[in-house]
Amino acid sequence: MEKERLIRHLMQSGYLTSDSVIDAMRDVPREIFVPESMRKYAYNDTPLEIGYGQTISAPHMVAIMSEALDLKRNSRVLEVGTGTGYHAAVTAKIVRDGHVYTVERIKELAEKAMANFEKLGIKNITVIVGDGSLGLPEHSPFDRIYATCAAPAVPPRLVEQLSDGGKMLVPVGGRICDLILVEKADGKITEKNLGGCSFVPMVGEGGYDG
Ligand code: SAH
Repeated sequence: MEKERLIRHLMQSGYLTSDSVIDAMRDVPREIFVPESMRKYAYNDTPLEIGYGQTISAPHMVAIMSEALDLKRNSRVLEVGTGTGYHAAVTAKIVRDGHVYTVERIKELAEKAMANFEKLGIKNITVIVGDGSLGLPEHSPFDRIYATCAAPAVPPRLVEQLSDGGKMLVPVGGRICDLILVEKADGKITEKNLGGCSFVPMVGEGGYDG
């Protein structure tokens, strides 16, 4: 099975290490999150076009981010950049007693994501159309926050909405960017660069101009 081959590749490459992330990636069929014409490539480890100039993240990036975030069974999570919802679905499976709030600026993609979650019977995700660079103050604080689009700098409004003991991952620096891990402990903020990556731009008040 193609999915299993991809999972084994991600394990052998050292991207997938924990049971909860491996089980979640085994559970979520990536083919339903890509357009019909891309279905034959669904288990290639590459980003794919999803329309509106946007892409579905590569499986290895979903694995790297899910592992680095150290998601717990009951984490409250904010995702910025839903796309068609693949990464959010994986996160929701990992935090099965928790909840994922995900914000997408393009309404049509948000609607596709909602339909995909419904199809898979995933109930612990709330999709919101809006500018995720501002976070969701009304649902904050979040134990974990991650962005799947690249910001010019770590958005301060997202740091504010991180709970104490919380972790956040944000790609910073344009299409070719660095994945930055932000941790908040005893009110103190630390940042660590986890290395290079490539993402579509975050467009919005805490991102780039549209
Ligand atoms: N998480 C997705 C990745 C989609 S690509 C996946 O699993 O494949 C990133 C998405 O971020 C795009 O759909 C883009 O429209 C969205 N985006 C960019 N800036 C945003 C912002 N300020 N708020 C919300 N979504 C944003």
